[in-house]
Amino acid sequence: MSLTLTVDGTRWRSHLETVADANPGIVPVAKGNGYGFTVGRLARKTQWLADRGHDVTALAVGTYGEIAEVATRWEGDIVVLTPWRPFIEPLDPALAKRVIHTVSRLVDLDELLTASPQARIVLERTTSMRRHGMEGRELWEAGEVLRRHPGARLEGVALHLPLQQGNHLGEVSRLLTDAIAADCGIDTVWVSHLTGAELTTLREQYGDFTIRPRIGTQLWLGDRGALHVTATVLDVHPVEKGDSFGYRARTAPKSGHLLVVSGGTAHGIGLEAPTGESSIKARAATLARGGLDAVGFVRSPYSIDGKQRLFAEPPHMQASMLFLPHGARVPAVGDMIDVRVRYTATAFDKIVIA
Ligand SMILES: *Cc1c(COP(=O)(O)O)cnc(C)c1O
Repeated sequence: MSLTLTVDGTRWRSHLETVADANPGIVPVAKGNGYGFTVGRLARKTQWLADRGHDVTALAVGTYGEIAEVATRWEGDIVVLTPWRPFIEPLDPALAKRVIHTVSRLVDLDELLTASPQARIVLERTTSMRRHGMEGRELWEAGEVLRRHPGARLEGVALHLPLQQGNHLGEVSRLLTDAIAADCGIDTVWVSHLTGAELTTLREQYGDFTIRPRIGTQLWLGDRGALHVTATVLDVHPVEKGDSFGYRARTAPKSGHLLVVSGGTAHGIGLEAPTGESSIKARAATLARGGLDAVGFVRSPYSIDGKQRLFAEPPHMQASMLFLPHGARVPAVGDMIDVRVRYTATAFDKIVIA
C-alpha cells in the first residue's frame, strides 16, 4: 500500500565507504527529509562509517530543530549549517559541547559568545552564492571580537559554494586569503561542492589548513543504481470514452483503464513539467494524433513497462490516478510499478534496505 524506497544495502554501503575514503575529513550532511532516507537513518549510517574506521568526526544538520534527530544516533560533533541568530533557543547543556554553530554576522558572534562564552563556532564567509556570510573585512573584525571572548572555540571558516559550475579554485583561494588575513587562528575550511580534483589541489596549496568537505547528495544519492522506488497499484477500473471520473468529473477521452496507485502530494509526488513540445503548433499536432497530453493529461512520474504514464488528474493526498490507454498491459491490484522521484523532496512510506 505504499510508496517504497528499496535500497540495495550492500551496494549502497559500499558506495558510502568509497566516498568516505576518497574524502578524508568528510562531513556527511543529514538535513531536511534526509535525502529521502530520513535524518535519523543518515545519523546512524554516519556512526557506522566512523565505527568502520573512516575519518568522520562531524555530521552536519540543516537546522537547530534537527539536532534532536541525530544526537542519540551519532556520537560525534554536530555542525548546524543554518547560521545562528539571536532568536535561537539555548541548547540543552548536555549537547552544547558537541554542537558547532555557524556564525555569519558580527552582531551574532558577539551575542552568541556573550550568552555562551565557550561556544564552538565556524565563521561563514560569503561566496558567490550570496546566501549567508561575512565579507573579508568583517572576518577581520570577527578576529577582534574573538579576542574579547577568549573562551570561544573557533573551529574554522565555512564556504558554501554554488553547485558545480566550472572551477571554484580561484574563488576559494581569494576567500582563504581573507581568512588568513583575519589573523584569528583559522586553520580549518569547511567547504561544499568541490570536486575531488579541486579538493586535492586545495590540500596541496594550503597544506597547513584542514579541508573538511560537507557532502550530502554525492554521498547518500551518488549511486542511483542502488536505489529503486516503487508504488503499489491499489485499484484498476476499466473506462469507456466519455465516462466521467475523479474530483473534477473529467471524462475519459478514449477507452482504457484508470489506475489508482500509492503516492500523492503528501509524499511529494507532483505534476511533471509539461512535455517539451509546448508550442501551439506542436500541441495541435499532438491533438491531431489523438495524444492524451493535448487533452490536458499531464505526464506523471510513474511508469509501467518502461513507459512513463499520464496522470488522469492531479495527484491526491496519498494516491494518484493514472490513465492507461487501451492496448497497454494492465497491471493487477497489488503490483508494483516504478516511480521516478526527487529524493530530496519525497517522503517514503517505507524504506527497505535489502
Ligand atoms: C545542503 C548543504 C550542503 C550539502 O549539499 P549537497 O549538494 O547535498 O552535497 C553543504 N553545505 C551546506 C551549507 C548545505 O546547506
